[in-house]
Amino acid sequence: MPMLTIKAQIHATPETERVLRDAMFCATKVYNGLMWHLRRQQEQTGRVSVRRSNLNRILKTLPRAKGYYSMSAQLTRDEVRQAWRSFFALRKNGRTKHNAPGFRPRGFLSPLRYVQSGFTVAGDRVTLSLGKWREDGVRQITFRISHRPDLKYERVRELSITYDKSSERLEARLVVEVLPRENHGEGRVAVDVGETVLLAAVFADGVALLYSGRLIKAIRRYWQKVRAKVKPPSRDAPHRSRRYSEIAHKERRQVEHLLHIVTAHFIRECIRRGVKEIAIGDLRNIRQEIAYGDRLNQRLHNWAYRKVINMLRYKAALAGIVVHADVDERGTSRTCHACGSERKSNRIHRGFYRCGCGWTAQADVNGALNIYERAFQVSPTKGSSGRVARPMVLSFQLGWHTVHEPERKHLRASA
Ligand SMILES: [Zn+2]
Repeated sequence: MPMLTIKAQIHATPETERVLRDAMFCATKVYNGLMWHLRRQQEQTGRVSVRRSNLNRILKTLPRAKGYYSMSAQLTRDEVRQAWRSFFALRKNGRTKHNAPGFRPRGFLSPLRYVQSGFTVAGDRVTLSLGKWREDGVRQITFRISHRPDLKYERVRELSITYDKSSERLEARLVVEVLPRENHGEGRVAVDVGETVLLAAVFADGVALLYSGRLIKAIRRYWQKVRAKVKPPSRDAPHRSRRYSEIAHKERRQVEHLLHIVTAHFIRECIRRGVKEIAIGDLRNIRQEIAYGDRLNQRLHNWAYRKVINMLRYKAALAGIVVHADVDERGTSRTCHACGSERKSNRIHRGFYRCGCGWTAQADVNGALNIYERAFQVSPTKGSSGRVARPMVLSFQLGWHTVHEPERKHLRASA
């Protein structure tokens, strides 16, 4: 059964919210307490043991560990282990100048994580256990959550309470099991994710769909102008500016909204065309290739790219479609789909790929065709005679013309 992570808003009384924040603050104290003890061990003995037995021993000595659910405290312990492990890996590669992983800032609200036990979700009501030993005697709390109404799930596997910096609110994240729609299709499609063309998809019958990235660029440009008018309070840490993070927040909301529309439309098309498998080129391979710098510049920046992939993954999962998001994308944009040559002379002009062999195609369609062939070992456009057919290209434009700053209350309502 596919698992999805969903975000939900928390609706709690001020008293419940106070208790939640206090429990999260306890988690920070526990995190820093474990960190402090480990650092001291390191100073005294020159070594650190991040074994669970060592950490559990320290955990017992930390009074704040009793401020929240014991299994959640163990998950905080695992976060500390993870921090050290990442640190060891960085140090091994000489990529850090620090002696130990850092502490969490004062007043930081650490996530409260629940796996398997300590929580129940009944409809929109969530009950969390806080353990038996809190000083104020509160053992459990109940509050309401709300999330996107179109999501139906079978079971909640994990739940975390996190603090969202941009909205300054507590949020719930639920890992849920969803019942996928039955899918008897056998079709395949390959997808290339880019900036000018947000999604280029080719189906097995040689039909290509192009989703323009023009509106996303327009949103970027608009907020870039707004940003230019705001003076950062500190040159060294512009992200600390409240207005800056508000701008980033709004920009992301608008981009996300568009990405939802595009990916939802695309998945509907997949269902209509009987698709069972989606292949997506994996960018991680490209990042190491300096030669593809031009291509990277054409890319959506990392955040939006990850969003698109995640949306495709979960929308596909709901539709019973399998996603292969690990197709090696290297060379797919420069290689001629017809003759397979990859030469510098295969220039891209005005979004069109041209090869000396006579093949011409929209550049992203050419890339998607190569991803298709790499993933499925067959090309949608190559006939048995070796002739290559031109794909039929359909373009989609979103009917979303205005880019404006929505009112605050609207933002909240759509959160
Ligand atoms: Zn060629």
